Amino acid sequence: MKVNQKYYDSSKGSSVPRISSIKNQIKQGLEHNKMINKIQMGIVRDEFTLYFQPEYNLNTNEIIGVEALVRWISPGDGIITPDTFIPVAETTELIYELERVVIRKALDQKRKWEREGLGHIELSINLSGKSIESDNDFKIIEEIVSSYQINYNTVIFEITESTVITNINLAMERLSRLKKYGIRFALDDFGTGYSSLVHLIKLPIDIIKIDRSFIKSIPEGVEETSITKSILSMAHDLNYKVVAEGIETKEQLEYLQKNSCEGGQGFLLCVPLPPEQVSKIIRDKEI
Ligand code: C2E
Ligand code: CA
Ligand code: CA
Repeated sequence: MKVNQKYYDSSKGSSVPRISSIKNQIKQGLEHNKMINKIQMGIVRDEFTLYFQPEYNLNTNEIIGVEALVRWISPGDGIITPDTFIPVAETTELIYELERVVIRKALDQKRKWEREGLGHIELSINLSGKSIESDNDFKIIEEIVSSYQINYNTVIFEITESTVITNINLAMERLSRLKKYGIRFALDDFGTGYSSLVHLIKLPIDIIKIDRSFIKSIPEGVEETSITKSILSMAHDLNYKVVAEGIETKEQLEYLQKNSCEGGQGFLLCVPLPPEQVSKIIRDKEI
C-alpha cells in the first residue's frame, strides 16, 4: 500500500495519530475563526461594556481609584470575561477596535464621574502592547485622548510588561507623548515577565502592580512572600507607588499593610462591578 508521506508519522508507525492531530488543529482553527467573527459582531452590536474594580489606599481603607475591566454581554452566553476573548482579539487587528471601544467608554465614564463630583477617583485603563507599537492605532488613541476635556492627572494606563518588549525605545517615546497630558503609567503583572527591571528603568513608569501570583501565596509561600517584600522595598527606594493585585484574605491584607504597600485591589476588598454600583460604593464610603 502506498502511504501518503505527508500524513505518516514514522515514529508512531501509524498514520492515525498524525491525522487526529491535524483534525484537532483544523477544529481549533475553525473555533478561533468563529470567535473572531463573534467578537466582530459583538463590537458592531455594542455588546462590550465596562466593569470597574475599586482600588484602595491600604493605610486609610479609602477608595482611591478604579480599574476598567472589559466584559462582553453576549445575548446567548451571558457575561464573558476578557481572558476568553482578549487573547483571540490580540491575534488580529480586532484588538485595536476593541481597545478604542474600551478607551472611549472608560473616558466617557470618567467625564460623567467628574460632572458628578467624583473627579478625584483615579481611573486605570488596560492598554495592549500591540496598540502602543502600531503607528496608526497609537495615533488614533492619541486623538481620542486629546478629544476629551478631562483631568488626565487622575488617569492611568496599565501596561503588561510582557507585551511591550519588542521595541522598548518606541514604547518609551510613545508613552512619553501621552505623559504630556498628565497620564501616568502602571507596569501591570509586575514580576511575571523576563525583563521587569529593564522596563521599569526605560519606560516612564509611575506605579508597579505586583502580580496576583505572588500575593496568592502570602504568607505560606516563603519565596513569593520574600519576593513581594523585596519588590516593596525596591519600589520605595526608587519612589514608585505600589499596588498589590488579587488580595483575597485578611492575612494577605495585613502582611501588605505591615510592609507599607500603599495600594490594593482584590476580591476581599471589592469585586469588579458595573459603574452605577461602583458610584454608590464610592459615595457611601465618603458620606
Ligand atoms: P488584569 O489587568 O491583571 O486585571 C485584573 C484581573 O484580576 C481581573 O480579571 C479581575 O477581575 C481579577 N481579579 C481582581 N481581584 C482578584 C482577586 O482577588 N482574585 C482573583 N482570582 N482575581 C482577581 P478580568 O477582568 O477577567 O481580566 C483579566 C485580564 O484581561 C486583565 O488582567 C487584563 O490583562 C485583561 N483586560 C481586562 N480588561 C481589559 C481591557 O479593557 N483592555 C485590555 N487590553 N485588556 C484587558
Ligand atoms: Ca490591569
Ligand atoms: Ca494585573
